[in-house]
Amino acid sequence: MKKIVVAIDGPAGAGKSTIAKLVGEKLGYAYIDTGAMYRSVTWKFLGTGKDFNENVIGELAHKMLIEFKPEAKVNRVFVDGTEVTEAIRTPEVTANVSKVAAIGSVREAMVKQQRRMGEIGGIIMDGRDIGTVVFPDAELKVFLTASVEERAMRRYKENVAKGQTCDLAKLKEEIAARDKADSEREISPLKQAGDAILLDSSHMTIDEVVQAILNMVEERL
Ligand code: C5P
Repeated sequence: MKKIVVAIDGPAGAGKSTIAKLVGEKLGYAYIDTGAMYRSVTWKFLGTGKDFNENVIGELAHKMLIEFKPEAKVNRVFVDGTEVTEAIRTPEVTANVSKVAAIGSVREAMVKQQRRMGEIGGIIMDGRDIGTVVFPDAELKVFLTASVEERAMRRYKENVAKGQTCDLAKLKEEIAARDKADSEREISPLKQAGDAILLDSSHMTIDEVVQAILNMVEERL
């Protein structure tokens, strides 16, 4: 059967990763979380203890090896052989990732790897610039969003379920600030591609969103 490229973009906390992983499993497609790649570069840089420097970070991004090992519940992530699945989700990484992702040479290194991963087709990739920059010819582009209140509430519930305490208002602020930084940066800003389908999941369940995307894929096959 024909295998296509599915691009899922959207703001922080819209559920892109959860949805893309489930859709990928249903279709038997490889799933790539590009946010995890920018988080990995940020983690690697923070580990050096050096001051913020675009050239240093760009060089790191070009040298490091990022690998994904998909498992039932999570996509495990490795940087130069070290597992970073949990380490790239800390508040410190989240607070710094947008700054790192705005660096041109970092994006150049990541986009190169992402295009290589997509060469064979049969891939679902989520991020901010997949439909606009990485795969402008993707057969299906979805811009997945939800109100900032809903996104903050989902994150809050996830954290509570993990036994972490957090402040809902602060979460909302952090999400809004990250969206602003990602949308306003000069290179490859977060933006809906002209030919992407807008899917607002504010009032939808995970299953409903997965099914909606599967229907879109079906139409393209
Ligand atoms: O998807 P996630 O929220 O984990 O992404 C973390 C950050 O990585 C985003 O806030 C954004 O700054 C950056 N990112 C990006 N381009 C992508 C994916 C993520 O700039 N394609």
